[in-house]
Amino acid sequence: MSDLAIRMSQITESVTLKLNALANEMIAKGEKVINLTAGEPDFNAPEESKEAVREALKNNLSKYTPVPGVNELRALVAEKTNRQQPAIQEKWKSDHVVISNGGKQAIFNSFMALLNPGDEVLIPAPYWLTYPELVKLAEGVPKFLKTTSTSDFKMTPEELKEAITPKTKILILNSPSNPTGSIYSSSEYEKIGEVLKSFPHLWVLSDEIYDRIHYGEIPFCSFLAAAPFLRDQTITVNGMSKSASMTGWRVGWTVSPLTVAKAISKFQGQTTSGINSLAQAASIAGLKIPDQQFLEQIESFRRRRDMVLEILEKSGKIEVCTPRGAFYFFIGIEKALKPAEDSVGFAQRLLEQQKVAVVPGNAFGEPRFVRLSFATKEDLLQEGCNRLVQFVEQSI
Ligand code: PLP
Repeated sequence: MSDLAIRMSQITESVTLKLNALANEMIAKGEKVINLTAGEPDFNAPEESKEAVREALKNNLSKYTPVPGVNELRALVAEKTNRQQPAIQEKWKSDHVVISNGGKQAIFNSFMALLNPGDEVLIPAPYWLTYPELVKLAEGVPKFLKTTSTSDFKMTPEELKEAITPKTKILILNSPSNPTGSIYSSSEYEKIGEVLKSFPHLWVLSDEIYDRIHYGEIPFCSFLAAAPFLRDQTITVNGMSKSASMTGWRVGWTVSPLTVAKAISKFQGQTTSGINSLAQAASIAGLKIPDQQFLEQIESFRRRRDMVLEILEKSGKIEVCTPRGAFYFFIGIEKALKPAEDSVGFAQRLLEQQKVAVVPGNAFGEPRFVRLSFATKEDLLQEGCNRLVQFVEQSI
């Protein structure tokens, strides 16, 4: 009998690990693998943030900080969220904000604060692979609402209504989405909000970590901008990782009604305490940078997105949905699968034969798709996509 806790057998190890191990083995042998799996921007952290850390070091900013974060940072987060949610009646203040170790911990904290054993969390699929695992760790039950490419991987209000059960405690929203790049428009979110009006005990966790990364066709809309009447049952999650290219600094946050914010802080106080003091100083500087300063980076992502689109559309065997935000293509490869093969087998063959690494869709709840990140240098991205098309055309 294993000494390990039962919960360890209930969470799934990432299916990407196997592929990463294979990719690393190939790289170690000197093979040139084009890695299109990156879940992070390929830009450096802002100079302002780096300078703030140098300054913080000079000033010996090395003591514990308050559990929910330093006040200046919490106030800046509240301001940013209020700007994105102009119609809410009661504005957010620093008390509503808890700074955590990345968006991931912010989401886990929320589940720990809200879920009782057996409570269901409704997760639209395809989904970011960590959601169901964190739900299980918090003794909740993940339930999935399948969406397809025909609706740009977005659920309709009717589908949502149908999927909610008396046990549903939390609905997860993620727009722009990882892995699909879909964005809910303001009017789509408004309709989702109308459905949720009939469920006053249901919480929404809106993961807005890719807020800045969108390409203009459908502008980013914070959920509470479209459904301000749900302020008292919504947790907004965001952070510095994607929008400010600061993945390694580990700064994320929740903005929520006071009872939840206090519970999150209580939980975090006994698990990890306040986050790294230097990363908070960096984030204060990062949040003061005007949005316009990031436009060049977004434009660079947009150029790369358009280039990938042009290459992938050359193949009749790949199903391509244009991402409107984030930096991923979620592409259908069903026509290129061998009998009984799924995306894990496909990704493995692609890596072995063409030396291109992508993430199998199984990880995101969709075994006939793979995720390709375009946060990669243009020449490598172009070469990787060309090889992918060639591979798919030669399959079967
Ligand atoms: N939410 C989504 C949709 C993500 O894709 C990620 C990171 O990949 C996160 C949250 C977590 O971000 P962080 O690196 O800040 O923990």
